Amino acid sequence: MSNSQPHFNKIALIGFGLIGGSIARAARAQGLAKEIVTTARSEKTRARVKELGIVDAVVESNEEAVKGVDLVILCIPVGACGPVAQEIGSYLAPGAIVSDVGSVKGAVVKDMAPHLPATAHFVPAHPVAGTEHSGPDSGFAELFINRWCILTPPVGTDPNAVEKLRAFWAALGAKVEIMTPDHHDLVLAITSHLPHLIAYTIVGTADELAQVTSSEVINFSAGGFRDFTRIAASDPTMWRDVFLNNKDAVLEMLGTFNEDLSRLTRAIRRGDGEALFEHFTRTRAIRRGIVETGQDSEAPDFGRPHANLAKRPD
Ligand code: NAP
Repeated sequence: MSNSQPHFNKIALIGFGLIGGSIARAARAQGLAKEIVTTARSEKTRARVKELGIVDAVVESNEEAVKGVDLVILCIPVGACGPVAQEIGSYLAPGAIVSDVGSVKGAVVKDMAPHLPATAHFVPAHPVAGTEHSGPDSGFAELFINRWCILTPPVGTDPNAVEKLRAFWAALGAKVEIMTPDHHDLVLAITSHLPHLIAYTIVGTADELAQVTSSEVINFSAGGFRDFTRIAASDPTMWRDVFLNNKDAVLEMLGTFNEDLSRLTRAIRRGDGEALFEHFTRTRAIRRGIVETGQDSEAPDFGRPHANLAKRPD
């Protein structure tokens, strides 16, 4: 527990999965709100959140959750943000900050903004942190430490509200960056969305192969393939919504990726070792840069407390 003063009187978290649950745990550990109230779509999740005892109140509806709050964060799939904004819009107190955690920003801004009153401050956010797990038990307070959180406030947003949300995310341990929604979507298309698409593809391809080779795919999955299976275990609803809502940027990056794949395919076919070596040397330097800037470590899972290293073979 830290002694830091609460930044907010009352925070509402709509949705309590990996991200909502991690925000609740971290905000509580840091003492960032006098009261945290939450709701989730299903009775099952709401009951589980009550059992966990992490928040001060669990309520039945989104409207009820946002009454009298000075910060509400939508922690739900991207495709659900517009309809939920419509539900809560007229219940928001003047001066309330409205945010989200969606992995796509352009579509979320377009879907949510029309439903929010002018008296509320809309500051969309995307914590670039996650695991392949989901649901109310999957969150942990350390998730955001030393990870980036990107804010994409629309032009003209009250700078005090932006600063307040920046301070909130910084208190959760994140490094905060501000950019436009379009720029966010382009950057994340290459750093996150395309890698997930490739993982989903390659694991699917190997699965087809597994019909023939059976357990070989599992037995010899050390190295590259195992990392892909972890990414490909990510939540299907979340990732369906990401690709539906960041279509243009993903297709643009996919075009470039296919060109590069064709170049490497040609190098393999022609036995062009020099081209392969040059390419792999360049990519190795990128990995070194990521480690040097502290975005990852040589350790298997960033040395995080939740990492169950015992489960990892070799
Ligand atoms: P999660 O663990 O699956 O939790 C999702 C929550 O949203 C649950 O409480 C669920 O309620 C609720 N929900 C699902 N569909 C809904 C709907 N149609 N209307 C209202 N509520 C709905 O997901 P998560 O990983 O926390 O992801 C939440 C958001 O964070 C997504 O927008 C995602 O893009 C973003 N994000 C995820 C990651 C990551 O790595 N997972 C990283 C950064 C940002 P029930 O439990 O009652 O079904």
